[in-house]
Amino acid sequence: MIGDFEHVTFGQRVLFGSGRAAEHVAAEVARLGARRVLLVASDRDERVAQRVSSGVDVAARCSDVRPHVPVANAERARQLASDVDADLIVSIGGGSATGLAKAVALTTGLPILAVPTTYAGSEATNVWGLTEQARKTTGSDDRVLPATVVYDAELTLSLPSALSVASGCNALAHCVDAMWAPRVDPVDRVLAGEGIGALAAGLRAVHADPGDLAGRERMLYGSYLAAVAFASAGSGLHHKICHVLGGAYDLPHAATHTAVLPYVLAFNGPYAPDASERIAAALGSDDAVVGLLELYAELGASHALRDVGFAAADSAEAAAGTVAEAARLILPAVPPGNPRPVGEEELTALLDAAWAGRPPTSVATTGAA
Ligand code: NAD
Repeated sequence: MIGDFEHVTFGQRVLFGSGRAAEHVAAEVARLGARRVLLVASDRDERVAQRVSSGVDVAARCSDVRPHVPVANAERARQLASDVDADLIVSIGGGSATGLAKAVALTTGLPILAVPTTYAGSEATNVWGLTEQARKTTGSDDRVLPATVVYDAELTLSLPSALSVASGCNALAHCVDAMWAPRVDPVDRVLAGEGIGALAAGLRAVHADPGDLAGRERMLYGSYLAAVAFASAGSGLHHKICHVLGGAYDLPHAATHTAVLPYVLAFNGPYAPDASERIAAALGSDDAVVGLLELYAELGASHALRDVGFAAADSAEAAAGTVAEAARLILPAVPPGNPRPVGEEELTALLDAAWAGRPPTSVATTGAA
């Protein structure tokens, strides 16, 4: 049975083509009628950015790209946009570059043309984030949804193997968490299922050969589907946990998502049988958690939070204090509609298992829920 639902499809143009980023960017800038482009790209991406924007008149380049968009950086970029009277922002880079472009769009209303170089997926959402004094604030606003996304898998060939795996698992997390997120609908579930299949196949191919362009294309396609599903469904338990951990303990975004995902899947899965079935099928396994762990084992992906810097140097006894503190911080953010009731005890057990990297199945029956 389908039942009643409301689904919002965002208006966005997507151009997908390997080796075609410069051509697509020039054509889109012309179509949008822009004459004063503010280019947002980090110094690391300078050469790529020059190549991709070669057919465009760039009024100014902002290279002030930092993780989680510090407010001071956003204000400098906004000032630059105003100084050159920009009429379009072209962002080239990972989620941090897209995030800075979104911060400018949020206050100026300028359109964004996004050219992603990771699998973070920010380019397909209307979600923005800003960080001030170690506190990350996020919100949604349609002004920050890029007008156009240009996907070119060749731009992701330079992503180191470990970053490719973490970034791809971050996209997988968008799909898995979308399955039970607050606004999930039947369309999101289909997008998320297709995304998981594409990402798993792409991750395997890229792990075996980082130069496998077809594998990179599957990952990029999967990360787009993941982001569309996530943007529509909203943040579920997994994203709330990672958001708090990332902000409060300054953990790396993609690797934190990678570590936490198997635990949230094992925790929620038994209470969300339809989601579990879809995830298992997309992973080509009889069981969602087993399928995900087999993929992690093949990719050499870690699901221990201490490996990504959470209470990293601590003994189990000392880490217990940080785990308990994190559980208390996360509790108010737990989505009310989560398929399984979540209390402080359950969160503590989940984080404790994730800190040590214990088998995720250990959290399936935790607590009285
Ligand atoms: P990132 O943009 O910080 O990039 C990670 C690292 O990879 C950086 O050092 C970057 O220079 C490098 N890099 C990027 N592309 C590369 C390439 N092709 N080759 C080699 N190196 C490359 O990290 P990310 O994981 O892409 O994005 C994370 C940020 O995006 C976080 O701030 C997160 O909150 C945000 N995000 C937002 C949304 C949203 O919907 N608003 C969704 C996902 C992520």
